[in-house]
Formats: sequence, C-alpha cells, structure tokens
Amino acid sequence: MRLRSWTTLFLMTLAQVAWGQTTTNPKLVNAEATAPGPSVNSYTVLGATSEQEALVRAQIRIMQPDVCPLRVLFVPHWKYVDTARIFHLHVPAGYTSAMFTHLPSRSVFIDSDRYVSDDSLGYWVAHELGHLAANSASESDADKAAREYRKRLKDARKPGVH
Ligand SMILES: [Zn+2]
Repeated sequence: MRLRSWTTLFLMTLAQVAWGQTTTNPKLVNAEATAPGPSVNSYTVLGATSEQEALVRAQIRIMQPDVCPLRVLFVPHWKYVDTARIFHLHVPAGYTSAMFTHLPSRSVFIDSDRYVSDDSLGYWVAHELGHLAANSASESDADKAAREYRKRLKDARKPGVH
C-alpha cells in the first residue's frame, strides 16, 4: 500500500513536470501543484512580450505575495475565453474580466488583448494574488488580501520611497 502511494506521488510529479513543458495544454492542468514555500521568482511567465514579462515580474516582486503563482499566462482573447470555458469558470463581465486564476494549478491567466495599462495590470494582478493568498475563489476574500498588495504597489510608485 505504501509503495502504491509513492508511485501515485511519483506519477503526479511527472504529470506536473509534463504540464510545465507543454505549457498551455489545459487537459493536464489538474495535476495538483503544491510546491511549498513562496519563492518570488520561481514561476513561469508564458506568452508575454519581454516588456509585459518584466513588468509583471517587477509588480509581483513589489507586492511580495504570501503565495506566488506557479505560472502567469498571457493569452489572446479567444484563448482566454476558451480556457475559462474549459475550466467551467464564470468570468464576471467587466469586473475581473481581464484575468482569472485557476487555484488548483496556481495559474494566472491574463487576457493580453484586454488589459489596458500598466497600472491596471498591477491592480488586477493584486486581486489574483489575493485569490492565491486566501486560497479562495471568493471575490471579497481576494480583494481583502489584495488590499495590502495594492498598498505596496502604490508605495513603490511614490518618488523617494523605496
Ligand atoms: Zn476574482
């Protein structure tokens, strides 16, 4: 029995590695991602321009989230909508419609056709990090956790304060 559970663990780890390599195959996204310990730069950013990647990494570094995403995926609008549908996620109109988080895989999806400015990117990334920190799909839990992250972003923008 013990051997069996180790085998399962091993297979799960393999699935996770395989997912990391095939990047956006949503079929494998359910592999449980439970890497312990926040490590601010150990996540993957996919599909972003180099400017977008630098920006999102800088913003996450400033926010020092309690739980980091494992991957941040910038996807075109059609793929964003499609992915949300595959995950059976309801993306509220307007509100968080430029990004969403898939909690089991700690993946943040960003609609690269929708986000409008660097400031709004940070604002909504804070919300998604809030979902991860609270480990909750609730919008109010996410916003509560996001408050501190947004404050850190704001402080970092003040001249002379670092
Ligand atoms: Zn949300």
